Amino acid sequence: MIKPNEVLVTSATWDEISRHSREAFPDECCGVILTNGVSDQVQRLENIQNKLHALDPETYPRTAVIAYAMDPKELEAILDNAQRGGNKLKAFYHSHPDHDAYFSAEDKVFASPFGEPTFPNTAQIVVSIYHREVKRMCAFAWSDEQEDFVEVPIKRV
Ligand SMILES: [Zn+2]
Repeated sequence: MIKPNEVLVTSATWDEISRHSREAFPDECCGVILTNGVSDQVQRLENIQNKLHALDPETYPRTAVIAYAMDPKELEAILDNAQRGGNKLKAFYHSHPDHDAYFSAEDKVFASPFGEPTFPNTAQIVVSIYHREVKRMCAFAWSDEQEDFVEVPIKRV
């Protein structure tokens, strides 16, 4: 089973994710889409990859230009707050500056650190942005059969 089997995003959400990707360029950006079932809301998260790299370059050799990391505490606070407000997590997103919108091996490790996805029913959106211009957005979802993230259609509605 693949859940979700497609991802619907409004133009406002699409534009906000594009804006975040442009503002963070040439670094990767990251965030989440929350939904109350009627409307969606984009919540930006800090990409702490450069902080991790500065603290421990051996464990974190990559900088934010080619990697992202969400602060688990920030994510937890956002999800707690969302739940209190009747919102649910709809999707994660992050950008690939000057790279295509594929789900990388590192992305898979981050989303499923112990082989199983931390959020199995939540889509992962990847934004390809070249020279500050968003080229493509792709969505990926966990497939139980393939035990991997597979591409699912993303539609702007
Ligand atoms: Zn990635």
